Amino acid sequence: MFDLKGKTALVSGASRGLGWAMAKSLAQAGAHVIINGRDRPSLDKRVAELAASGLSGEAAAFDVTNEAACRTNIEAIVGRRGGLDILVANAGIQHRQAIGEFQLDDFDRVLRTNLTAVWMLAKEAARTMIPARRGRIIMTGSISALTARPTISAYVASKGAVHALAKQLSVELAPHGITVNAIAPGYFATEMNTALIDNREFNDWVCKRTPAGRWGRLDEIGPVAVFLASDEASFVNGHVLVVDGAFTAAM
Ligand code: NDP
Repeated sequence: MFDLKGKTALVSGASRGLGWAMAKSLAQAGAHVIINGRDRPSLDKRVAELAASGLSGEAAAFDVTNEAACRTNIEAIVGRRGGLDILVANAGIQHRQAIGEFQLDDFDRVLRTNLTAVWMLAKEAARTMIPARRGRIIMTGSISALTARPTISAYVASKGAVHALAKQLSVELAPHGITVNAIAPGYFATEMNTALIDNREFNDWVCKRTPAGRWGRLDEIGPVAVFLASDEASFVNGHVLVVDGAFTAAM
C-alpha cells in the first residue's frame, strides 16, 4: 500500500520545513521528487541528502510567483520524465502586521505566493494530468484559515482561498481521474515560525492550546502527503485534511 514507485512528484517550497519533509516522504515511498525553491545551493544540498539515502530526486530552482517559470519548469519535467503524477503546491510565506499598518504591497506579495502561485502550478499540472487521465494535486493550506489570529490578514485570506480552490478544482478535475486535496497543518516548528518559537509566551500558549501538548513534528506531515498522493486515496477528493494535534477540535 501507498507505493509511489515510478511516480514523478514536484514539491514547491521543498528546500526546508514542511515541503522538505513531504518531499522526503514521497521519495521514501518510491517517487522521483523534484524539489523546488528559489535558492539553488539549498536545493542541491537536499538532493544530495536524498541520494545519500538511496532516494531519487532533482532540483528545480524557480520562483513560483513567476508564471512563465511555472510553465517552463513543469513542461521541462514532463519532457524529461514523460509526465507529472503528483504536485504538492506548498511554497508559502507569512507577513505579520496590524491591519492599520499592513501595506498593500505586502498583502499582494503574500497572496501572490500563497494563492496565485498555487493556482498557476495547479493549472500547469492539470494541463499535463488531464490527457494522462490521472494525477494528484495537494495544496498546503493552514488551520489559520479555520481559526484566525490577529496580524496575519493576508495569510488567513490566502489560506482560506487555497482551501476553497482545492474544493473547486477537485470538482473540475475529478472526471479526469485527478484528485485535489489540501493539507491544513497546525503549528509546526519550522523557519516560518522562528519568531513564534523564540517567543516564550507564544511557545507556551501553543503547547497549552494544542491538546497534543506540543508543536507538530516534521515527520508527522510527510506521511499525510504520501497517503493523499497514493492510488489508495483515489476517492479522497476535495478534502481539507487537518493535521494539528486536535488544535481546531478543541474549545
Ligand atoms: P518555511 O519558511 O520553512 O519554508 C518555505 C519554503 O518555501 C522554502 O523552501 C522557501 O524556499 C520556499 N519559497 C518561499 N517563497 C517561494 C517562492 N516564491 N518560490 C519558490 N519557493 C518559495 O515554511 P514552512 O515549511 O513552515 O511552510 C510551508 C507551507 O506550510 C507554507 O505554505 C505555510 O504557509 C504552510 N503552513 C506552515 C505551518 C507551520 O506551522 N510551519 C502551519 C500551517 C501552514 P526559498 O525561500 O529558498 O525560496
